[in-house]
Amino acid sequence: MSTGEELLRSRGLRVTRPRLAVLDVLGGGGHLEVDEITRRVRMRLDSVSTQAVYDILGALSRAGLSRRIEPAGSPARYEARAGDNHHHVVCRGCGEIADVDCATGSAPCLDPNLAHGYEVDEAEVTFWGLCPACRIRRDTDH
Ligand SMILES: [Zn+2]
Ligand SMILES: [Zn+2]
Ligand SMILES: [Zn+2]
Repeated sequence: MSTGEELLRSRGLRVTRPRLAVLDVLGGGGHLEVDEITRRVRMRLDSVSTQAVYDILGALSRAGLSRRIEPAGSPARYEARAGDNHHHVVCRGCGEIADVDCATGSAPCLDPNLAHGYEVDEAEVTFWGLCPACRIRRDTDH
């Protein structure tokens, strides 16, 4: 089980137990809030402060090992799937988030007709709708 260590070393990051624990939690998949990440890290290590988890997430994100997303109206979330320019579909009912592959795979996947002279390097695409569970709830509520 050295994949976490190898990942950290490959990005020039010092290997520490809290960093390995955060990587391990993110590796479980999903889009997790910091509180949830901290809770799961503490199940592995006794004393890790929320601030330490924030610092680790910042370092991992800068190193390209995690990605931070922040849909409107939702706290920041982190995921291990980074670097592939995928997008998200967010449920308006419950806030559930799912990954959506990018059709082009590289940023920016949309080209503005008029960029006002900017060199555009990313289009932040978020799809909004109702997840399957919320659709069922809507259809049976009335
Ligand atoms: Zn939902
Ligand atoms: Zn994602
Ligand atoms: Zn795209």
